[in-house]
Amino acid sequence: MTESIDAAGAALAETAAALYARGWLEGTAGNLSVRLPGGDTALITASGLGKGSLTAADVVEVRIEDARPVHDGAPRPSAETSIHTALYRSSAGSHAVVHAHPPYATATAILAARRGAGTVTFTDLEIIKGLGLADPSKVVVPVFDNHAHVPRIADDVAGRIASDAPPVMLIGNHGATTWGPTLDIARNRMECLEALCQLTLLVDRL
Ligand SMILES: [Zn+2]
Repeated sequence: MTESIDAAGAALAETAAALYARGWLEGTAGNLSVRLPGGDTALITASGLGKGSLTAADVVEVRIEDARPVHDGAPRPSAETSIHTALYRSSAGSHAVVHAHPPYATATAILAARRGAGTVTFTDLEIIKGLGLADPSKVVVPVFDNHAHVPRIADDVAGRIASDAPPVMLIGNHGATTWGPTLDIARNRMECLEALCQLTLLVDRL
């Protein structure tokens, strides 16, 4: 188990550094996690650290049941841990979650919040295929209200995200969260969501 935790921690640090290099994890923003073998716990990035220079040790094992650290004296887990664990509980097939602030996805989340829109729909764009949906002609992305008390967002996620939901969501005035069977796939889906938002904003301006 220690070996798998070390490997998962290294993968989280590497992916975080790549997303940081793209400018998607500004300041100490963003959080990433993977479900650990056994399925009842997840490894998530620790709170308050710059994501460009994490090490494999800057992670915390938390219980999926209640988002609490498994071990006493562990670093504080990400403030948004409860959203990750809600997604793991909602979808047995999700084994990794990525939360970031890519600029076009975040701009789309801001516009949606200003309009009071609960969803953003993308239609007939090739890149929808990257989300792995049964019907890639359209994706309806849920937009959640941003609350300072993060467990309130997590409760909304638990109420709205079913196991057959598209594996992407926006948080109004805040950013984006994606998930999937592996960390690479969750990261790919973040790239696809950002591309959908970028293309749509560009085309709307033409
Ligand atoms: Zn965030």
